[in-house]
Amino acid sequence: MAKFYCVCGYIIRTSGEIPHPYQWSMVSDGDFDRLFDSADADEVYQVSPLMFRCPESGHLWVYWNGMDQSPSLYSPTAPDVAAS
Ligand SMILES: [Zn+2]
Repeated sequence: MAKFYCVCGYIIRTSGEIPHPYQWSMVSDGDFDRLFDSADADEVYQVSPLMFRCPESGHLWVYWNGMDQSPSLYSPTAPDVAAS
């Protein structure tokens, strides 16, 4: 899948421009610690789930189990709601 619609209607593109303008690689602390000394950027990239942050709404789409599985959606929550 090269693109899909965010819940806000924005088209999230998972390929194209490099570096991707709103793609994040989420490195776990364990992987970071294990790979820190090797400083192998390719390996860090391969073990890190990809996340896309919608530029319009800030929703996070996380591919925890690789790009061939559906992403999980995380919605931004206003701080006053989270604090109550
Ligand atoms: Zn959005």
